Amino acid sequence: MQLMSKRKILITAALPYANGSIHLGHLVEYIQTDIWVRFQKMCLPKENGHEVYFVCADDAHGTPVMLRAEREETTPEELINQVHNEHLKDFTAFHIEFDNYYTTHSTETREYSENVYRKLQTADPSLITTKNIQQFYDPDKGIFLPDRFIKGECPKCNAKDQYGDNCEVCGAAYAPTDLIGPYSTISNASLVLKTSKHFFFRLSDERCINFLRHWTQKENHLQSEAANKMQEWLGKTGQNNLSDWDISRDEPYFGFEIPDAPGKYFYVWLDAPIGYMGSFKNLCTQKNINFNEFWKKGSTTELYHFIGKDILYFHALFWPAMLEYSDYRTPTKIFSHGFLTVNGEKMSKSKGTFITAENYISHGLDPEYLRYYYAAKLNGTMEDIDLNLDDFIARVNSDLVGKYVNIASRAAGFLVHHFDGHLANITSLDYEGPIELKELKSSVHKLHHELLNEIDPIQAHMQNRRYNQAIAIIMALTDKVNEFWDQQKPWEKAKQIKNSPTKLAMNHPIKFSLHLVSSITIECFKILTILLKPVLPVLAERAESFLNVDPLRWVDLKKSLEPGHQIQAYKHLITRIDRKKINAMIEASK
Ligand SMILES: [Zn+2]
Repeated sequence: MQLMSKRKILITAALPYANGSIHLGHLVEYIQTDIWVRFQKMCLPKENGHEVYFVCADDAHGTPVMLRAEREETTPEELINQVHNEHLKDFTAFHIEFDNYYTTHSTETREYSENVYRKLQTADPSLITTKNIQQFYDPDKGIFLPDRFIKGECPKCNAKDQYGDNCEVCGAAYAPTDLIGPYSTISNASLVLKTSKHFFFRLSDERCINFLRHWTQKENHLQSEAANKMQEWLGKTGQNNLSDWDISRDEPYFGFEIPDAPGKYFYVWLDAPIGYMGSFKNLCTQKNINFNEFWKKGSTTELYHFIGKDILYFHALFWPAMLEYSDYRTPTKIFSHGFLTVNGEKMSKSKGTFITAENYISHGLDPEYLRYYYAAKLNGTMEDIDLNLDDFIARVNSDLVGKYVNIASRAAGFLVHHFDGHLANITSLDYEGPIELKELKSSVHKLHHELLNEIDPIQAHMQNRRYNQAIAIIMALTDKVNEFWDQQKPWEKAKQIKNSPTKLAMNHPIKFSLHLVSSITIECFKILTILLKPVLPVLAERAESFLNVDPLRWVDLKKSLEPGHQIQAYKHLITRIDRKKINAMIEASK
């Protein structure tokens, strides 16, 4: 590997809301991010001075958490603790390896929220302003209601019980204030309009507009489709399509109170992204890392956010503008992805395709099946990806069991039986033997280099999150290795050895040939294992123990296993997906 300067990288995945379970849709993001983090860590080892951190947290604040805690007769703090534990258990089960998994309800996040707010407030002229707004108020509960808790009669078609933003019957879109007879879905009380003072971040200010026009279009901060979307939202130069952003909510609210504004709280979306800073700060305290080096304006470290396309607006507009005007650095890149469909449709509870992480695991399905399948589909764009359950079973069974681990099981038997597990020298070409062995050596050399030649393209695809293309190449390579094996027919050599009246010497062409074919096949298996390791970390660990090697790194791709190195006897590395387990999981999800 070429020498490179020491890199410091902070990677985040979006914060799951502390009001529900992790499901397979969420996992598209966490698996995608975890693969990228593991890939960076494998390529940029800590011992060489590189630092790569992956942080996340539960998004703990807001009205839904407050109301659920009340319904469950507990406190928001107890509720978010319980959900935090559940989330972390699910992530751990899917081998999502955070360096820190925290909560936004923390002293660190409070401190940075206040700090960001103060800096925006004291900007000259101030980027914080207040306005009186009218909002629906539930007089029974004594709270202002978010739109999702408001229903009423559609002003267009008079359908009853429609949500506050659009009618499911006629499709009309409107404001909650247009509803006829609006009522609270919590208490059923008729709602009243009440005036209240709210705090706003002045996103419509020229400074923000000009900054965002530049930031969203330059230096590939965003994927091109996201940059285009931002251009649409920002409008043409001279236009001003952005409104000021309402960052406050009235009490009672579960969140952080705004400094010097009793009864007013930061809207959950203000402190959610600041939760990235809070979680990282918490890690810095544990590991003695310099927080400012990663976050202060002018930082030369790298910051990457993985998010779903539904929260692009928050991450590509509000967030960089907040950071820019509060003396912090802005993200290096924002990677946005699409949603998950199952069998080509939106996840659905009635069809049993709204599958939680817990349900998947409790049916005995290996989390690495899903990691592999998602990787085989993710292409680095904002397109949705589909989990087709038939294809899922067929693909995992064919690729991982039929092709990849098959390579190890085929070669290990002969190596252990005839050579006590010791490998031949696959790189030495100085053997003086019959002409057919020269041909064998040249085909061994050719196979080895066919694999080595694909390392750079695979690395580039991984770096650009085109995992699907990396997997396609890796699987084409497993086909090549299996074809080589079939062409060489080593089982015929093994038979000849067995049937030989005398014990054959190690350098006898038949024995040598069996040794060489089995050894290069194991070397290829090692290479494929490294290439798949960011996707299949636990399977790779089992493979490492079979290969009898230390944890494999990217640099080990080009370092062949030593001649004479001894592998272990082959044990099952992964089992096939059983359709019955999938069917049971679907039934249980209904
Ligand atoms: Zn309607």
